[in-house]
Amino acid sequence: MLPFSRVTIIGLGLIGSSIARAARRQMPTVRLTGHDADAEVRATATALGLCDDVSDTPGAAVTHADLVILCVPVGAMDQVARAIAEDLPAEAVVSDVGSSKAGVLAALQAALPGATIVPAHPVAGTERSGPEAGFASLFRGRWCILTPPDGADGAAVQRVAEFWRRLGAQIETMAPDHHDRVLAITSHLPHLIAYTIVGTASDMEEITRSEVIKYSAGGFRDFTRIAASDPTMWRDVFLSNKDAVLDMLQRFSEDLSALQRAIRWGKGDELHDLFTRTRAIRRSIVEQGQDDPAPDFGRSHE
Ligand code: NAP
Repeated sequence: MLPFSRVTIIGLGLIGSSIARAARRQMPTVRLTGHDADAEVRATATALGLCDDVSDTPGAAVTHADLVILCVPVGAMDQVARAIAEDLPAEAVVSDVGSSKAGVLAALQAALPGATIVPAHPVAGTERSGPEAGFASLFRGRWCILTPPDGADGAAVQRVAEFWRRLGAQIETMAPDHHDRVLAITSHLPHLIAYTIVGTASDMEEITRSEVIKYSAGGFRDFTRIAASDPTMWRDVFLSNKDAVLDMLQRFSEDLSALQRAIRWGKGDELHDLFTRTRAIRRSIVEQGQDDPAPDFGRSHE
């Protein structure tokens, strides 16, 4: 039996439209309703046939839902939750896909007192955004982390888990604070480093922009993919996961200083030991199916 039969997706960008596409493919009898604040996105979603209906207001979108998934930037979760509060059916489950969890959970609980809330974070994405960027296989083989609050309704958690399994994801459950620390190091800090290095390179007067781009295959271009990620989404992630990100950044800065010292004093063994350890991490990621085993991230060199 399907875990839900009337699903509403609010925010029809990369993640929301990918959920719609995957749900259409894997659970074709589910009735899908969508809403986005942006009229152009609503028009594109209608033209692409992402949902059965696209509503003009968040309230109208949720009236018949048994699952509502908020797929907007984390800074907009609070506003959307308040906008659906009056029309949300009592038996509906509310979920989200935000990249940070503790702050979003607090905002949803404050805006929707008494509602059944099961937050989720599919650890899958690309640097693109908008309804045309989504695709049905985005979640296949990826992790979806559920962060239910203490005392959450176990049956609702199981239904949300089953929904994501049907979209192709594997499920993990964590406390929201723990999620935020894990993602601070695995996702948020790497994005911050990429934004920094690309920003620094583009500011450098003595190396012209054209040289930065021309010789980017030396490593720089792999940072530029991450640094091309959506500015609104990432601004909100850093502001909402501030404590964990600052904590990881402190540790990272100390490790960077240690590397700086090793280079200054010619401690080749220290550098070699670290680079050997990091190579093993890459091997584990490939072995666990979280990236393409082909050299150079699977880029074709034909
Ligand atoms: P996206 O492609 O930019 O889509 C977000 C959509 O939400 C946009 O169409 C946006 O409209 C709309 N929106 C913004 N505020 C709204 C509001 N108040 N009411 C209704 N719609 C609103 O972003 P995304 O990549 O799908 O990210 C959505 C969520 O998924 C974020 O919380 C993000 O943290 C999370 N997430 C992202 C990734 C990833 O790799 N991208 C991975 C996992 C989770 P506008 O046209 O006005 O911007």
